[in-house]
Amino acid sequence: VPELPDVEGFRRTMARHATGKTITNIVVPDTEIVRNASPAVVAGTLRRRTLEKAERHGKWLIARADGPALLFHFGMTGDLIWGENARDRHPHDRAIMVFGDGELRYRNMRRFGGLWLARDDAEREELLGGLGPDALRVSRARFLERLGARRGRLKPALMDQTVVAGPGNLVVDETLWSARLSPLRTIASLTDDERTRLFNAMHDVLKKSSRRGYIPEEPGWLITVRGNPGASCPRCGTTLRRMTVGGRTTYWCPRCQPD
Ligand SMILES: [Zn+2]
Repeated sequence: VPELPDVEGFRRTMARHATGKTITNIVVPDTEIVRNASPAVVAGTLRRRTLEKAERHGKWLIARADGPALLFHFGMTGDLIWGENARDRHPHDRAIMVFGDGELRYRNMRRFGGLWLARDDAEREELLGGLGPDALRVSRARFLERLGARRGRLKPALMDQTVVAGPGNLVVDETLWSARLSPLRTIASLTDDERTRLFNAMHDVLKKSSRRGYIPEEPGWLITVRGNPGASCPRCGTTLRRMTVGGRTTYWCPRCQPD
Protein backbone atom coordinates (compact mmCIF):
# COMPACT_ATOMS: atom_id res chain seq x y z
CA VAL A 1 0.00 0.00 0.00
CA PRO A 2 1.59 3.29 -1.07
CA GLU A 3 2.39 5.55 1.88
CA LEU A 4 4.34 8.79 2.01
CA PRO A 5 7.74 7.20 1.12
CA ASP A 6 6.30 5.44 -1.92
CA VAL A 7 4.56 8.58 -3.16
CA GLU A 8 7.81 10.49 -2.72
CA GLY A 9 9.33 7.88 -5.05
CA PHE A 10 6.52 8.47 -7.58
CA ARG A 11 7.11 12.22 -7.29
CA ARG A 12 10.76 11.73 -8.17
CA THR A 13 9.79 9.60 -11.19
CA MET A 14 7.52 12.39 -12.38
CA ALA A 15 10.07 15.12 -11.68
CA ARG A 16 12.95 13.26 -13.33
CA HIS A 17 11.15 12.36 -16.55
CA ALA A 18 8.40 14.87 -17.10
CA THR A 19 8.83 18.27 -15.47
CA GLY A 20 9.46 21.05 -17.93
CA LYS A 21 7.89 19.05 -20.75
CA THR A 22 4.70 19.73 -22.69
CA ILE A 23 1.75 17.41 -22.05
CA THR A 24 0.76 16.28 -25.55
CA ASN A 25 -2.26 14.27 -24.40
CA ILE A 26 -3.98 12.56 -21.49
CA VAL A 27 -5.29 9.12 -22.39
CA VAL A 28 -7.84 7.75 -19.93
CA PRO A 29 -8.69 4.10 -20.70
CA ASP A 30 -10.62 3.87 -17.41
CA THR A 31 -13.27 6.52 -17.95
CA GLU A 32 -14.16 6.69 -14.24
CA ILE A 33 -10.68 6.99 -12.76
CA VAL A 34 -10.76 10.79 -12.83
CA ARG A 35 -13.27 11.24 -10.04
CA ASN A 36 -14.44 14.77 -10.70
CA ALA A 37 -14.20 15.28 -14.49
CA SER A 38 -14.73 13.47 -17.75
CA PRO A 39 -11.71 12.23 -19.74
CA ALA A 40 -12.50 14.84 -22.43
CA VAL A 41 -12.43 17.70 -19.93
CA VAL A 42 -9.18 16.44 -18.38
CA ALA A 43 -7.51 16.20 -21.78
CA GLY A 44 -8.94 19.53 -22.90
CA THR A 45 -7.71 21.28 -19.75
CA LEU A 46 -4.17 19.86 -19.66
CA ARG A 47 -3.20 19.31 -23.29
CA ARG A 48 -0.39 21.57 -24.59
CA ARG A 49 0.40 22.81 -21.10
CA THR A 50 3.81 22.43 -19.46
CA LEU A 51 4.14 20.12 -16.48
CA GLU A 52 5.98 22.71 -14.43
CA LYS A 53 6.22 20.99 -11.08
CA ALA A 54 5.73 17.65 -9.31
CA GLU A 55 4.75 18.17 -5.67
CA ARG A 56 3.78 15.83 -2.88
CA HIS A 57 1.57 16.44 0.14
CA GLY A 58 1.14 13.40 2.37
CA LYS A 59 0.06 10.55 0.10
CA TRP A 60 -0.99 12.90 -2.71
CA LEU A 61 1.05 13.66 -5.80
CA ILE A 62 0.27 16.96 -7.48
CA ALA A 63 1.20 17.53 -11.13
CA ARG A 64 1.07 21.30 -11.60
CA ALA A 65 0.54 22.37 -15.17
CA ASP A 66 0.75 26.14 -15.28
CA GLY A 67 -2.59 26.92 -13.60
CA PRO A 68 -4.53 23.66 -13.48
CA ALA A 69 -3.22 20.55 -11.75
CA LEU A 70 -3.85 16.82 -11.76
CA LEU A 71 -3.98 15.23 -8.31
CA PHE A 72 -3.00 11.58 -7.90
CA HIS A 73 -4.01 9.31 -5.03
CA PHE A 74 -2.65 5.78 -5.14
CA GLY A 75 -5.17 3.96 -2.92
CA MET A 76 -4.15 0.37 -2.14
CA THR A 77 -2.33 -0.71 -5.30
CA GLY A 78 -1.38 2.45 -7.19
CA ASP A 79 1.90 2.98 -9.01
CA LEU A 80 3.41 5.53 -11.39
CA ILE A 81 5.59 4.29 -14.22
CA TRP A 82 7.55 6.07 -16.93
CA GLY A 83 7.66 4.30 -20.25
CA GLU A 84 8.80 5.23 -23.71
CA ASN A 85 6.78 2.88 -25.86
CA ALA A 86 2.98 2.94 -25.85
CA ARG A 87 3.03 -0.74 -26.79
CA ASP A 88 4.22 -1.52 -23.25
CA ARG A 89 1.03 -0.23 -21.64
CA HIS A 90 -0.59 -2.53 -19.10
CA PRO A 91 -4.32 -3.35 -18.73
CA HIS A 92 -4.23 -1.71 -15.29
CA ASP A 93 -2.90 1.59 -16.66
CA ARG A 94 -5.95 3.72 -15.83
CA ALA A 95 -4.68 7.07 -17.09
CA ILE A 96 -1.64 8.02 -19.15
CA MET A 97 0.01 11.42 -19.38
CA VAL A 98 1.71 11.55 -22.76
CA PHE A 99 4.81 13.66 -23.57
CA GLY A 100 6.94 13.95 -26.69
CA ASP A 101 9.45 11.32 -25.60
CA GLY A 102 7.47 9.02 -23.33
CA GLU A 103 4.56 8.75 -20.94
CA LEU A 104 3.65 8.57 -17.28
CA ARG A 105 1.30 5.69 -16.54
CA TYR A 106 -0.98 5.68 -13.51
CA ARG A 107 -1.36 1.97 -12.83
CA ASN A 108 -3.85 0.81 -10.24
CA MET A 109 -5.18 -2.72 -10.14
CA ARG A 110 -7.81 -2.29 -7.42
CA ARG A 111 -8.88 1.24 -8.41
CA PHE A 112 -9.00 2.70 -4.90
CA GLY A 113 -7.80 6.28 -4.91
CA GLY A 114 -7.94 7.88 -8.34
CA LEU A 115 -7.24 11.21 -10.02
CA TRP A 116 -8.82 14.60 -9.48
CA LEU A 117 -8.62 17.60 -11.76
CA ALA A 118 -8.12 21.02 -10.18
CA ARG A 119 -8.74 23.83 -12.64
CA ASP A 120 -6.91 26.42 -10.55
CA ASP A 121 -5.20 27.02 -7.19
CA ALA A 122 -8.51 27.53 -5.38
CA GLU A 123 -9.84 24.15 -6.54
CA ARG A 124 -6.59 22.48 -5.61
CA GLU A 125 -6.72 23.95 -2.12
CA GLU A 126 -10.33 22.90 -1.75
CA LEU A 127 -9.53 19.29 -2.70
CA LEU A 128 -6.56 19.02 -0.34
CA GLY A 129 -7.73 21.47 2.33
CA GLY A 130 -8.79 18.84 4.87
CA LEU A 131 -5.28 17.41 5.16
CA GLY A 132 -2.93 18.15 8.01
CA PRO A 133 0.62 19.35 7.33
CA ASP A 134 2.91 16.97 5.46
CA ALA A 135 4.42 14.51 7.94
CA LEU A 136 7.92 14.78 6.49
CA ARG A 137 8.03 18.59 6.55
CA VAL A 138 6.02 19.36 9.68
CA SER A 139 7.98 21.05 12.48
CA ARG A 140 8.19 19.40 15.87
CA ALA A 141 6.22 22.22 17.51
CA ARG A 142 3.39 22.00 14.99
CA PHE A 143 3.27 18.20 15.17
CA LEU A 144 3.08 18.23 18.97
CA GLU A 145 0.41 20.91 18.91
CA ARG A 146 -1.76 18.88 16.51
CA LEU A 147 -1.19 15.63 18.37
CA GLY A 148 -1.99 17.33 21.66
CA ALA A 149 -5.36 18.44 20.33
CA ARG A 150 -6.37 14.79 19.81
CA ARG A 151 -7.80 12.28 22.25
CA GLY A 152 -7.66 8.52 22.23
CA ARG A 153 -4.98 6.04 21.29
CA LEU A 154 -1.74 6.77 19.49
CA LYS A 155 -2.12 4.54 16.47
CA PRO A 156 -5.42 5.90 15.10
CA ALA A 157 -4.25 9.48 15.73
CA LEU A 158 -1.09 8.95 13.68
CA MET A 159 -3.08 7.28 10.88
CA ASP A 160 -5.48 10.25 10.72
CA GLN A 161 -4.54 12.35 7.67
CA THR A 162 -6.08 15.46 9.23
CA VAL A 163 -3.49 15.34 12.05
CA VAL A 164 -0.50 14.90 9.75
CA ALA A 165 -0.68 13.75 6.13
CA GLY A 166 1.33 10.81 4.85
CA PRO A 167 1.75 8.02 7.42
CA GLY A 168 -0.05 4.73 6.77
CA ASN A 169 -0.13 1.45 8.61
CA LEU A 170 3.48 0.43 7.96
CA VAL A 171 5.00 3.86 8.69
CA VAL A 172 3.05 4.16 11.95
CA ASP A 173 4.04 0.69 13.22
CA GLU A 174 7.66 1.38 12.27
CA THR A 175 7.56 4.78 14.03
CA LEU A 176 6.05 3.40 17.24
CA TRP A 177 8.49 0.50 17.34
CA SER A 178 11.40 2.88 16.78
CA ALA A 179 10.11 5.26 19.49
CA ARG A 180 9.44 2.31 21.86
CA LEU A 181 5.81 3.34 22.36
CA SER A 182 2.87 0.94 22.41
CA PRO A 183 0.14 1.63 19.83
CA LEU A 184 -2.35 1.16 22.68
CA ARG A 185 -1.01 4.12 24.68
CA THR A 186 -3.31 7.10 24.87
CA ILE A 187 -2.08 10.49 23.74
CA ALA A 188 -2.98 11.94 27.14
CA SER A 189 -0.63 9.46 28.87
CA LEU A 190 2.50 10.54 26.93
CA THR A 191 5.22 12.45 28.78
CA ASP A 192 7.02 15.34 27.09
CA ASP A 193 10.05 13.11 26.50
CA GLU A 194 7.88 10.48 24.86
CA ARG A 195 6.25 13.06 22.60
CA THR A 196 9.65 14.27 21.45
CA ARG A 197 10.78 10.68 20.91
CA LEU A 198 7.68 10.03 18.83
CA PHE A 199 8.30 13.03 16.59
CA ASN A 200 11.98 12.19 16.15
CA ALA A 201 11.18 8.56 15.30
CA MET A 202 8.50 9.53 12.76
CA HIS A 203 10.81 12.02 11.11
CA ASP A 204 13.68 9.54 11.00
CA VAL A 205 11.52 6.72 9.56
CA LEU A 206 10.06 9.02 6.91
CA LYS A 207 13.36 10.60 5.96
CA LYS A 208 15.21 7.31 5.55
CA SER A 209 12.40 5.56 3.69
CA SER A 210 11.53 8.53 1.45
CA ARG A 211 15.09 8.57 0.18
CA ARG A 212 14.55 5.06 -1.17
CA GLY A 213 10.87 5.34 -2.11
CA TYR A 214 9.83 2.51 0.25
CA ILE A 215 10.43 1.30 3.81
CA PRO A 216 13.78 -0.50 3.64
CA GLU A 217 13.82 -4.20 4.47
CA GLU A 218 17.09 -3.95 6.33
CA PRO A 219 18.34 -4.96 9.77
CA GLY A 220 16.96 -2.65 12.42
CA TRP A 221 13.55 -2.23 10.80
CA LEU A 222 10.31 -3.87 11.96
CA ILE A 223 9.17 -4.42 8.37
CA THR A 224 11.81 -7.12 7.89
CA VAL A 225 9.89 -9.44 10.24
CA ARG A 226 6.30 -8.21 10.44
CA GLY A 227 3.87 -10.57 8.78
CA ASN A 228 5.97 -13.67 9.50
CA PRO A 229 4.17 -16.10 11.81
CA GLY A 230 5.69 -15.99 15.30
CA ALA A 231 7.94 -13.05 14.32
CA SER A 232 10.24 -11.73 17.00
CA CYS A 233 11.42 -8.20 17.75
CA PRO A 234 14.55 -7.32 15.70
CA ARG A 235 15.87 -5.43 18.75
CA CYS A 236 15.28 -7.80 21.70
CA GLY A 237 13.99 -11.09 20.28
CA THR A 238 10.66 -11.05 22.14
CA THR A 239 7.75 -12.50 20.16
CA LEU A 240 5.79 -9.63 18.61
CA ARG A 241 2.18 -8.93 19.48
CA ARG A 242 -0.31 -8.73 16.66
CA MET A 243 -3.73 -7.14 17.03
CA THR A 244 -6.20 -5.00 15.12
CA VAL A 245 -5.85 -1.42 16.35
CA GLY A 246 -7.81 1.39 14.71
CA GLY A 247 -9.06 -1.12 12.12
CA ARG A 248 -5.57 -2.11 10.94
CA THR A 249 -3.35 -5.11 11.66
CA THR A 250 -0.72 -3.85 14.07
CA TYR A 251 2.57 -5.38 15.21
CA TRP A 252 4.57 -4.32 18.23
CA CYS A 253 7.04 -5.62 20.80
CA PRO A 254 5.48 -6.06 24.26
CA ARG A 255 8.90 -5.71 25.88
CA CYS A 256 10.25 -2.63 24.03
CA GLN A 257 6.80 -1.04 23.78
CA PRO A 258 5.00 -1.81 27.06
CA ASP A 259 1.32 -0.85 27.29
ZN1 LIG B 1 11.69 -5.67 21.55
